[in-house]
Amino acid sequence: MGYGDYLNFGLSHEFYELILARVVFLVFSAIILIVLKHVRTVKQFDYLVFLWSTIYILLSIYINTSRSLTNINFTYIDTLIVLALFLVFPNNLSIKGILASILTIGDLVVILFFKNPISDLSFKTIALSYIVANVLGLFIANRLQQFRQKQYHAFFQKQNLCEDLEKIAFVDYLTGALNRRKFFQLGSLEFDKFIRYKTSFSAIILDLDLFKHLNDEFGHDAGDHYLKTFTNIIIENKRNNDVLGRLGGEEFALILPETNLNSALEMAERLRRLCDERKVYFNNQLLHTTVSIGITKVWEKDRTFQDVLKRADEALYQAKGNGRNQVQFKLKDL
Ligand code: GH3
Ligand code: MG
Ligand code: MG
Repeated sequence: MGYGDYLNFGLSHEFYELILARVVFLVFSAIILIVLKHVRTVKQFDYLVFLWSTIYILLSIYINTSRSLTNINFTYIDTLIVLALFLVFPNNLSIKGILASILTIGDLVVILFFKNPISDLSFKTIALSYIVANVLGLFIANRLQQFRQKQYHAFFQKQNLCEDLEKIAFVDYLTGALNRRKFFQLGSLEFDKFIRYKTSFSAIILDLDLFKHLNDEFGHDAGDHYLKTFTNIIIENKRNNDVLGRLGGEEFALILPETNLNSALEMAERLRRLCDERKVYFNNQLLHTTVSIGITKVWEKDRTFQDVLKRADEALYQAKGNGRNQVQFKLKDL
């Protein structure tokens, strides 16, 4: 563009003025680019791009006015700039429209009032090329925007679908606890961590007492309601990184990362007490049952996560055998 200025003005005073204006604009553009990288909101981004485009257009009109009275050759390049405004800049459609209109009207006013009069045919041809550039730009930009919106929606639909699939694959539908498969998968990961980094963990198995009676007396829906409430009691009392799974039926299990046996015992006792004390109603009928709990902690002779859970299950079996509604633990295999 500097070369174009040289062709227009030679090494005159106007030439240096234009070069200065272009350099100032370049520096301004570089600053805007740097600021854009640090912008956090879409609104600020749009505002800065709008500011930059407006100044660019004003500069372009200023350059056109400063050229010699007979020179209107820039017009054809400016129609391309109108197209670029529609196709390249990331503003919304109405802002693009405003910017393109400013450039179009500005250039036509310059030709009409700041240049030597041109023939009617030349002016009409120029005006027509601007109209074509605007209409074409508006049409393609609109299509592009629709396409992007569709892509955006498709992306979010896919995201939601993946989340739904993950839920179906990993989460127990009734209670919201992890299903058996996912629970064992996370358990194995925790066990790998123990082998590699010696990070200890405790495991708890919880089995509702005589749940079959509750079902028989109040019906399966009441049983389901109780299972959901019981799960909520556990969720309200566990830490965020404790892993809760439903092993099947009325049997649940917890992995407590980096938790020693005493803390695990405290938690289990709290859950047992809360379950015993909680008044759960279904269709105005009070549902009550208790829970038996078995606990263990991972130790060096364990070979798999299943070994750990098997020991917790043995502790649970002992709790059931000793009369239910209690917590038992088993530290090591004998
Ligand atoms: P124990 O104290 O020895 O554990 O006795 P229990 O009756 O709890 O154990 P048992 O294994 O004999 O019976 C478990 C019952 O849990 C059988 C079944 O009716 C009930 N159950 C399993 N899954 C569900 C479920 O999803 N919803 C409901 N409502 N009941 C379930
Ligand atoms: Mg049971
Ligand atoms: Mg059971």
